[in-house]
Amino acid sequence: MLPEVRPGRVLLVGAGPGAADLLTLRAARAVGEAQALLYDALVPQEILDMAPAHCLKIQTGKRAGRTSMAQATINRLMVRLARRGLDVVRLKGGDPSVFGRVGEEMDALRAAGIEAQVIPGVTAAAAAAAQFGFPLTHRGQARRVVLTTARLDQGGLAQDWRAAADPEATLAIYMGGAAAGAIRDQLLAAGRPATTPVLAVENAGRADARLFTGTLDGLAETVPSDLDGPVLIVVGEVAARAAVRAPALLTELAS
Ligand code: SAH
Repeated sequence: MLPEVRPGRVLLVGAGPGAADLLTLRAARAVGEAQALLYDALVPQEILDMAPAHCLKIQTGKRAGRTSMAQATINRLMVRLARRGLDVVRLKGGDPSVFGRVGEEMDALRAAGIEAQVIPGVTAAAAAAAQFGFPLTHRGQARRVVLTTARLDQGGLAQDWRAAADPEATLAIYMGGAAAGAIRDQLLAAGRPATTPVLAVENAGRADARLFTGTLDGLAETVPSDLDGPVLIVVGEVAARAAVRAPALLTELAS
């Protein structure tokens, strides 16, 4: 018989929006001590470089439209590596609990009897708000924030848009960059006024972030269709408060 190996544990870690200094200290420590690192496409090289030289690094995700590793394969891989005794870090863009499949991965790890913990990260909506100076909630204007997605396989646009029609709700729409026209149609049909301020941020939290602003009726024109980076769409009165800051300050903060 082979000697028993003490199983490693798995940390499901939020890497934040793409700037290394927006990692939490706890996340940075986890990456710095990782023996195996499974990372998504949105995690920048700068953060991967924080892992020890001997750490096994495996990319699991590709950007929208390209083939990624199947979720079942990722789950199996995490279990196998942990069973070999490695401490595994599963690194995800933003916060693992926001469209990060953390529920599925936790279930798989628990079912396999592997110890797992989540380390939070700065989600794209928070990074975009901080960088371009608008709040997600605002007294008298935005009493709720809805984190939602336009991706059909995540529940899609046919979901309940009553909350979306609520004039006091800020909508933070993930994975919606390619569906701006459909989002506009659905929100107008749900009763959100055509004049509602909207914005889109590409690469929130990074030095090369870009802000696009407009109103709901022009959402499809506000969000360029050829953006390379990840895009977050924000719909609601708070979007009118966004302002491009001096590029020098942005670069200084993000560098
Ligand atoms: N867990 C992540 C979201 C993963 S879903 C988080 O908490 O941020 C991937 C989507 O998130 C992208 O399609 C985009 O809509 C959004 N996103 C992630 N990082 C982003 C960034 N730096 N800037 C803008 N949007 C981002």
